[in-house]
Amino acid sequence: MDADGANLKNLTADSAAYNFAPAWAPDGKTIVYTSWETGNKQLFAMTPEGAARTNLSNNRFHDEQPAFAPDGKQIAFVSNREGCAESVTATLDEPALQGSVASGNCQRRDIFVAAWDGAKIAAPRQITFLGRDVKPTWAPDGKQIAFIAARPAQQPLYLAALDDAPARSLSDATAWFDSAVWAARAPAFGFAPTTEPPLFIEKPIPSNPAEGSKYDFVGMKDVYLAPSWGILSSTVSESFRALRQRVKAESGIDFLDTLSDMTRLISSRCDNTCDDLSWHKSGRAVDTLLSKVVGDQEKLLLVRQDVGAEVYWQVYLRAAKQDGSMGAPLTEAPWDLSYRARATLAPGQGGVEAPIAKGYWVNFTELARIYGWARISSHDDLDFDWRNNREAIEFWHFQKEDGLNWWQAMQETYPPATLAKTFEWGNIVNAWAKEPSRVYLKDVPLPPSAWKWFALTPER
Ligand SMILES: [Zn+2]
Repeated sequence: MDADGANLKNLTADSAAYNFAPAWAPDGKTIVYTSWETGNKQLFAMTPEGAARTNLSNNRFHDEQPAFAPDGKQIAFVSNREGCAESVTATLDEPALQGSVASGNCQRRDIFVAAWDGAKIAAPRQITFLGRDVKPTWAPDGKQIAFIAARPAQQPLYLAALDDAPARSLSDATAWFDSAVWAARAPAFGFAPTTEPPLFIEKPIPSNPAEGSKYDFVGMKDVYLAPSWGILSSTVSESFRALRQRVKAESGIDFLDTLSDMTRLISSRCDNTCDDLSWHKSGRAVDTLLSKVVGDQEKLLLVRQDVGAEVYWQVYLRAAKQDGSMGAPLTEAPWDLSYRARATLAPGQGGVEAPIAKGYWVNFTELARIYGWARISSHDDLDFDWRNNREAIEFWHFQKEDGLNWWQAMQETYPPATLAKTFEWGNIVNAWAKEPSRVYLKDVPLPPSAWKWFALTPER
């Protein structure tokens, strides 16, 4: 379109595929963009009129998010080719499954730089290695690239030089950046300090705490938790209500009107599929439904997201209106967790990447994060691994920690005497058969009799 917003024109109107993340070459002659045209994400080039569309990538990997160097001679892009390429067995007749999980980790994303001659890309070179590096942005001098290093609860900003020096962090490790833009002639890179208040400020509602504790539990009488309704800590109930309204407004689906779990009894006991020292006991955790069927249609879809060695999920809801007024197209392929995928197509690998889903979707996980409700990673213990035990996936679990450790969260809502009695060290490690190191990690106070575990504490 024109700079004033006039003459808006769809350059790929005849393409049924999702085409996104366009980058205009500095000479103005070419637009490079990402397309699902071939069933995976590939870099395509076209003229500014939308003609002469060419696949620049021509591979089975995901290549996406192109960014031109200021001199127009190189293109940075995001790819999974390094992680995904390990020990692939495929032939022309029998190509590997899309995002083949039997062949390395196709959920990795790193930044590559390739030469650009105006028609094709050549000699791609990997410049970042942190495993989930996205949204490359060139420095005006063309010698450095800023990018986002995605982590479970943080997305710090990083800077990579093209001279093979290790990338370095530019921000507080706890920061959450979505993307970065260089000032056109800035001699150095600048960014806003991360001292802004949280996006949602929780105001605990007045309650009637038990003697010795600070807060109470409140009934969530319009949230169905079979067979009736559940309770949450009054320290987080209002952000949950706000999140529920926001999800409903953005997706047209009241996803949080029913949950599969909320607050658990303080004394409830678990097998290996849950945790006796769970955040559910603090009243600061919920489990969403595992499936949301409206009419005949499944509204819930999952995108796998590996961060380091941990597997996380993004939960998407199919927007009630599919006219473009709600949600956005998916840029990541969903994950197929069906029995067929898990047992037949990729045994032991937990499923396979599915074809890109059409339509408009709302990222529930991102909305939850905005309200302070964080996801957790899938379990991968030897006897409880998400790849072969559906109960270990945990995409449904969200908890609001507010910077507290588990014991502090429990102290908010339970009197000291109740906590001391229920979580007495000897009781937990003997009768509950919990590993002492796991109990220690939850900050449950150690008695002197647990001296042998004290000895494991690093000297201060
Ligand atoms: Zn849970």
